Amino acid sequence: MAQVLIVAEHLGGQLNAATAKTVSAAQALQAESIDVVVLAADPAGIAAQAAQIAGVARVLTVANPANEHALAQVLAPQIAKLASGYSHVFGPSTTFGKDLMPVVAALLGVNQVSDLMAVEGTHTFQRPIYAGNAIITVEAPADQTVVATVRTASWPEAAKGGSASIEAVQADATLPAHTRFVGLAAGKSDRPDLQSAKRVVSGGRGVGSEENFRVIYQLADKLGAAVGASRAAVDAGYVPNELQVGQTGKIIAPELYVAVGISGAIQHLTGIKDAGTIVAINKDADAPIFEIADIGLVGDLFTLLPELEKAVG
Ligand code: FAD
Repeated sequence: MAQVLIVAEHLGGQLNAATAKTVSAAQALQAESIDVVVLAADPAGIAAQAAQIAGVARVLTVANPANEHALAQVLAPQIAKLASGYSHVFGPSTTFGKDLMPVVAALLGVNQVSDLMAVEGTHTFQRPIYAGNAIITVEAPADQTVVATVRTASWPEAAKGGSASIEAVQADATLPAHTRFVGLAAGKSDRPDLQSAKRVVSGGRGVGSEENFRVIYQLADKLGAAVGASRAAVDAGYVPNELQVGQTGKIIAPELYVAVGISGAIQHLTGIKDAGTIVAINKDADAPIFEIADIGLVGDLFTLLPELEKAVG
């Protein structure tokens, strides 16, 4: 029987929805118990949010000023200490989890299972390979702790309505001095977060310039959507690279994805495989994006977007 420890992802006192998705993956194991650990300088508020996730038995809090910022090298030794007694340690396959979980796996001396998308047994999982073009079944050794990142696009958020107990714990690990927080440089945006947004409007090379990208932002604002981009748009400097969707960008699963001036390269499509409705706007009727789009508009984006914006109201 599986006993699962899930590492909570949070920022600015808010629990990230990726945590509840990771809980869903743990539930698929038919786990005997699912605990969530919150490492923070002041974990109380975040722990209260985690305690509401249905299926969570206990929320463990590790309060330490060193946990103010999510540094993998600082968090991992504490998680590795807490891992004893658990058969599985899961984190989301987000930027946070992809940075942290390999360090946890290395400290425990095990190989990480990456991008877990389906559970076949307590030690048998499916994960995508070749940019999502093939699915492989992997088996982790039954006599070792399973450390895994969970592909958040493949799992729904576990329901709310839980009432887990919250327990403060000590994680007596020696924290490294070689890695310390210096500063955070992040773009400020009032728009929804790309990774968790329900609606996303993305622009590609076809948008043509940083200035032209305003038509993408305008439609996104009308729809209450996050903004994304293809790698070509990022490489051309139209938008910052945290907006990149795809194999080497963010893997997302919004309910609505609007691809504007994006051809539909396989590396881009990898990032939107689990999206709900895909709308493509492209002047080339033969663009591959139309093969996967639910709704396609063939035409010039600079004509179609203002019309669409008006129609949305
Ligand atoms: P293009 O392929 O140039 O397409 C532009 C489209 O805009 C065309 O279809 C054109 O018809 C249309 N268009 C032009 N003008 C207009 C107009 N006025 N109105 C309407 N339509 C117009 N790509 C990603 O996106 N994400 C990734 O994570 C990623 N990772 C990669 C990893 C590797 C290892 C490699 C090799 C590639 C990766 N790529 C990735 C790049 C990918 O192969 C494509 O080059 C890229 O996605 C193309 O971006 P695009 O569709 O914006 O540009």
